[in-house]
Amino acid sequence: MMRIIDELRDAESIAISGHQRPDGDCVGSVMGLYLYLKKELPGAVIDAYLERPADIFGCISHIEEIKSDFNTERTYDAFVALDTVPDRMGGASDIYLKARKKINIDHHVSNPGHGDVSVVEPERSSTAELLYELMDPEKIDGEIAKAIYIGIIHDTGVLRYSNTSPRTLQITAELIKFGFDFSQIIEETFYERTYRQTQIMGRAVLESMRLLHDRCIVSVVSRRMMEFYRVTSKDLDGIVNQLLSVKGVDCAILMHETGTQEYKVSMRSKGAVDVAAVAVKFGGGGHVRAAGCTMNGTYRDGINNLCGLIAEQLRDK
Ligand code: AMP
Ligand code: MN
Ligand code: MN
Repeated sequence: MMRIIDELRDAESIAISGHQRPDGDCVGSVMGLYLYLKKELPGAVIDAYLERPADIFGCISHIEEIKSDFNTERTYDAFVALDTVPDRMGGASDIYLKARKKINIDHHVSNPGHGDVSVVEPERSSTAELLYELMDPEKIDGEIAKAIYIGIIHDTGVLRYSNTSPRTLQITAELIKFGFDFSQIIEETFYERTYRQTQIMGRAVLESMRLLHDRCIVSVVSRRMMEFYRVTSKDLDGIVNQLLSVKGVDCAILMHETGTQEYKVSMRSKGAVDVAAVAVKFGGGGHVRAAGCTMNGTYRDGINNLCGLIAEQLRDK
């Protein structure tokens, strides 16, 4: 397997980025690689670009160095895209397009490959796990380990989802040898919720409905609701998983309003439904059991369109 450093050794300037609304895997991967390259290539300019990460990621060292203003005159020698396709980079996509060498590292089945060097391994639990394999384990320190650990923990639901492999556990075993307080990290970045996050989760659960003979559960969070509870998109993480945990449900959908007649859709499946295939039909992507897309129009039309495709998949199961 290639070593990331061999692709970047000659670069004097390197930009690293991920996707819009960065999740734990995205933030952990970007920061893990950022810290690694700062150490390995001390003479190079290394910049990490990402929308402002949620406060829970404040435990990652140097996270305040992330640039959330994407306006730059610089043309980077290399750009490393983590956990994303160019379409989903938001403000960083212009920086990507201008960069001389483009490197793509991802684990989404829906990533068709892009750039000059492309490593896409859909069987990997997380981009963070894949990134670890591209690093020299001797060069990893406690701070890098912590960032990568957070990436793996978040995309595997704390080593619980079916994307967790023996290799995932071997890598996390190596990482926790650095001695950081993994128990506290899991509690504070994964399980802990603010009161307002808990309230909107309760509201979304209360207003959910089951469709397709109770095999699909759907909830919609409007902008008014988000204003009422004073929450943003970031505060809705975990709700769709909560919906999926209902007994008998095969598939869960959470839609939240991001603009006029615009909804961000999150889907989760227990395995019978391939939600990535559904998301791809609407310009999104993801994995078999976790995927997302953005839909325009009323939420009723959105639900009808999504459920139509899900019903087709469930028909012969
Ligand atoms: P989410 O529901 O936003 O947590 O996303 C679930 C999974 O699908 C994650 O792995 C995301 O990276 C992926 N995903 C979500 N939205 C999109 C999108 N528009 N395009 C590609 N992948 C997505
Ligand atoms: Mn992600
Ligand atoms: Mn990921």
